[in-house]
Amino acid sequence: MSIKEILKSGAPELGVPLGDIEKFCVYYELLERRNKDFNLTAITDETDAAQKHFLDSLGVLKSADFAGKSVIDVGCGAGFPGFPLKIAEPSISLTSVDSTEKKVSFLMEVNAALSLDVKCLHARAEELGQDPEYREKYDIAVSRAVARLNVLAELCLPLVRHGGKFLAMKALDSDEEIEEARAGIEKLGGIISRVDEYDIPGTDLRRRVVVIEKSCKTPEKFPRRFGTIKKQPL
Ligand code: SAH
Repeated sequence: MSIKEILKSGAPELGVPLGDIEKFCVYYELLERRNKDFNLTAITDETDAAQKHFLDSLGVLKSADFAGKSVIDVGCGAGFPGFPLKIAEPSISLTSVDSTEKKVSFLMEVNAALSLDVKCLHARAEELGQDPEYREKYDIAVSRAVARLNVLAELCLPLVRHGGKFLAMKALDSDEEIEEARAGIEKLGGIISRVDEYDIPGTDLRRRVVVIEKSCKTPEKFPRRFGTIKKQPL
């Protein structure tokens, strides 16, 4: 099936908006064309990209009201989940961050080709978390496939404003990872409020979104340096 067919039937099945479907097609063409030069993703087949990148990314829309929100995607790689979210819900103000320069070059190319108006940043999340321009500035942080939740929470929660949310996209077998992160999330000013699940249409894959509310400000000492975050996770 083509990207268009998969998305047209998949988005309503998932219960999410889709936005301009042509933008997903151009995004895929660029992803396919640039994958070799930039080593962007293991997924290159059209069906896999539509299901495991585009529809999976859109699944997070079910876990919060994104309209008009400021959103930061931490460790976005080739743009997931943030770029599909911005196509489907253009009213969000999106910042996509990655620490690998060549991935950010690709993002800038997609951003220009699709006129998305995304702020693409080559940066480390833990450094942004200590920068007053970015610290506690976002309504929503999202992240997929970047680190275990106890590490990821320290990268993402400092960027979320008091009253905002961090939505961590995880696999179904994440019970242990979630329990292991619970106490650290509280130290960072967060609280796990729910774990949502959805099926990726057309596949037998089921995914999770760990919904974390920012209930207090993050203490100034967090985020720590990356070496410390990894060696001594909260
Ligand atoms: N979210 C994308 C990419 C996952 S791969 C997807 O789901 O397809 C993980 C990405 O996180 C890599 O591109 C890596 O460069 C980036 N990353 C890892 N640690 C980071 C950090 N501390 N700050 C910013 N980006 C980071």
